[in-house]
Parts: sequence; C-alpha cells; structure tokens
Amino acid sequence: LAHYDPLTKLPNRFYLSVRLELAIADAIRSGNAGALIYVDIDRFKNINESAGHSKGDELLQLVAVRLRDSMRQDDLVARLNGDEFAVLIQGIGDVENVNRIVNKIKEAFEEKFVSRNSEYRLSTSLGVSLCPRDGETVEDIFKNADIAVRNAKDKGGDIETFYTQELNSTTNRKIWLEKHLRNALEREEFVIHYQPQVRLVDGALTGAEALLRWVHPEEGTISPGEFIPIAERSGLIIPIGDWVLENACITAKRWLDTGLNLGHLAVNIAGPQITRGNLIKSCQNALSKSALSPSLLELEVTEGFIMKDAENSIEILESLRDLGIAMSIDDFGTGYSSLSYLKRLPIDQLKIDRSFIKDIPENKDDIAIAKTIVSLGQNLGLSVIAEGVETEEQRNFLLSLGCELAQGFLFHKPLSAEEFFDCFIESSMVEKNPNGFSTNSAA
Ligand code: C2E
Ligand code: MG
Ligand code: MG
Repeated sequence: LAHYDPLTKLPNRFYLSVRLELAIADAIRSGNAGALIYVDIDRFKNINESAGHSKGDELLQLVAVRLRDSMRQDDLVARLNGDEFAVLIQGIGDVENVNRIVNKIKEAFEEKFVSRNSEYRLSTSLGVSLCPRDGETVEDIFKNADIAVRNAKDKGGDIETFYTQELNSTTNRKIWLEKHLRNALEREEFVIHYQPQVRLVDGALTGAEALLRWVHPEEGTISPGEFIPIAERSGLIIPIGDWVLENACITAKRWLDTGLNLGHLAVNIAGPQITRGNLIKSCQNALSKSALSPSLLELEVTEGFIMKDAENSIEILESLRDLGIAMSIDDFGTGYSSLSYLKRLPIDQLKIDRSFIKDIPENKDDIAIAKTIVSLGQNLGLSVIAEGVETEEQRNFLLSLGCELAQGFLFHKPLSAEEFFDCFIESSMVEKNPNGFSTNSAA
C-alpha cells in the first residue's frame, strides 16, 4: 500500500523516487543515461468538473492502463498525484531514443478513451529530465522534469519540453518576479504611463491608454509583457488592476479639472479581474473616488479572453455598459471571434492588433485582415482604432480604409503623466471653441 496508488494500482511517487535513486546511480556508473518523463493530462480539471469525479477517476484508470501498455515491461510507469503520471526509463543509450519514447506516449493518447457510453479525447503535456545530465539527485531530477512539464503547459499543452539550463533560468526569473510583485504595490513601485490615442486625419487627441510600468529599485523598469502574465496567474492582477483603475481615473480627472481635455481614458483589464475579481465594484469605486464621469472611461479587454467565455462575459459587460462605461476589444484579430457573439456583445470599439499593422503595406494578408476588421467595425456600428502605427505609409493606408482612430509611435510613445500633461495642456486650451467645448474630442 505504501508503494502503490490505490486508484490505478500503479507505483506511487515514493516508489518512483526509490527507483529513481537507483537509476541515477546506475546511469553515473555505466555512463548510460536515464530519463524521467512527466506526463500531465491537459485540462483534466475541466473534465473532472463537467463530467464528475467518478468519471474522472475512471478516465485516470484508463490512462494508467494505456500508459502501462505502451511502455516496455522494465520501464516504470507511476502515478504522482491527480492527473500527473511519470515514466522512468533506464539505459536510454542515445538521446534520440527519448524522442521515440515521447512519441510513443503521444501516440498512446491519440486513440480516444471510452468509458461506458462516453468518449473522451485527451492530450498530454510531457516534461523530460535526463539523468545524470540534468541532475544527480532525485530531488533535482524531479524538480527539472516539473519545470519542463510546466513549460509545456504554459505553451498550451499537447507538447513535450526537454529540461534545459535556459528553461531553469526563465523559471527562476518567474519565481523572482512573482515574489517581488507581491510587495510592489505597497512599496509604490508602479507608475502609469499614458499613450495618446488620436484621430488619424489630423492627429488630434481623442483619448489616452493607461499603461502600467513597474520600476523595481534594483532591476529597473520591468515590462508589462513580462509581469502581467505572472500577475494574472497568481491573482495579484486583482489588487494591481484596482490600483491602476483608481489612479488612472484620478489623474484623468485632475487633467480635466485643469483644462486638459483628454477625450476618454482607456484602461486595460485582464481576464481574472472579470472572472475572479469584482470588476463592477472596482469600477464604481474608482469612479466615485475620482469623480470622473463614467462616460469618459473605456475598458480594454482582450479578444482572447472575451471569446473564451463569451456567455459569462456578456452579462458582466452589460452591467458595465449600464454604468455608462465603454468597452473596447483589445488585440482584435488574434482571438478567433465568433461573429454571432460579436453582434451580441455590448462593445463600442475594436482595436486592431499591432501584429496586423506592423507589416503594412508589404504583407498582403495583413492588409486583408486590417481591411476586414475596419469594415466589420463599420458594419456593426463600432469604432475602430489601429494600434502600433509607426509609419506614414501605415497611416495613409488606414486612412484609405476609413479607419478613424490610431495609436502608435508615429504620433506619440507612452508618456509619463507629467509629459502627457505638458504635451497637451496648451493645445487643449487653444482648441476650445467659443461654446467652451473642446473640438478635439472626436471619440
Ligand atoms: P496593449 O494593451 O495591446 O498595449 C499596447 C502596447 O503597445 C503597449 O506596450 C505600448 O507601449 C505598445 N505600443 C504602442 N504603440 C506602439 C508602436 O507604435 N509600436 C510598437 N512596437 N509598440 C507600440 P506595453 O506598455 O509594453 O504593454 C504591453 C501590454 O501589457 C499591453 O498591451 C497590455 O496588454 C498589458 N498592460 C499594460 N498595462 C496594463 C494594465 O494596467 N493592466 C493590464 N491588465 N494589462 C496591462
Ligand atoms: Mg490595450
Ligand atoms: Mg493591444
């Protein structure tokens, strides 16, 4: 009992670690390497939740049999816990052989799993650690196989990853970032920059996108592309996101009060803020603390997130719209929108992803996509903004499509709050017409 998993009857982690220790010693002595392969079923949690735990258990038993049958008798197949299995192979000879074994495991999962009257297709993420190359202790080999399999998962699953030194440093970097991110708010290491959004015809200011910056005292500025995904995974994005909302609203209101008409304020919202936080309350808080009018606030939510859970998104987005807040779909074109959802979603704007603007006018496919998005927006009555506009050619091309708004280095880089203020305060005052309304709020 101490050595076997009761559900699948496979050896358990303890037994595996005893055998691994022997395998490492053997590999060092003989010079013939061994391999530990972690096998983690993709999205098993979803199956467990939707089909129920007893169905989940049954599938795990089927997986155990399938794995066991696909390996040779003297390879060790173990269940670590939950949906995590491992295969230990000794005397692999050539590293090329490990690839063959990896493929055998993948092939074993190609055929569907049938339990009573339901069928399931499962895929796996595999993480490979070689001994003694990747470690000479049980602990290291376990840890490195785990690092490798987590990397495979991060890439979306259904893939194998071999442990490397480089992978190790990326993982260490992530651990470092998460640890320091926990204190960044209270240590006041965040600042918000603002990138102007403009009308394409004349470059007049129509809004500003708040972009978060993390200035670490020793590391310097860490890019949001690096820390936002970590904040999302750890849930830290919820307090951080609240901070951004509140502070950006306060800044925008201060600008308005001093005569700078910035148009609207766009704030990025991450998926977990919608699913795990209370976004509606966060917005109400930010608006009441800042006294900013809700009609000036616009939230940018990525297309990938909205479409992943469109049914639930609709409800929340509708409540936000009821508050008077506008919605823009960020990174549009990258997230497989369903047209029927697009029609039903309470949104105001599509934001063409930078990747489709980058190679205009050389890339025909990008041109076609940009064109399609602009006309899609026009037909659905949505405004369209292009992001990442860097050249005159891109600007002219977008103008010729009838795209009205843009954001990008051609006009302005993201600016600090002070720079933004200095840059726009004068033109904002000058452009006021006799009625007292600014003429530069085309949005
Ligand atoms: P995004 O929302 O798509 O923001 C646009 C990114 O494009 C910004 O990068 C901006 O600096 C960059 N950019 C703007 N114009 C140009 C251009 O002409 N050329 C090029 N090459 N790049 C341009 P940044 O500031 O590094 O932000 C990256 C991403 O991080 C953002 O992508 C957004 O998804 C996320 N992010 C930033 N701040 C926040 C935040 O407060 N909350 C959340 N949830 N995400 C944020
Ligand atoms: Mg954005
Ligand atoms: Mg974007």
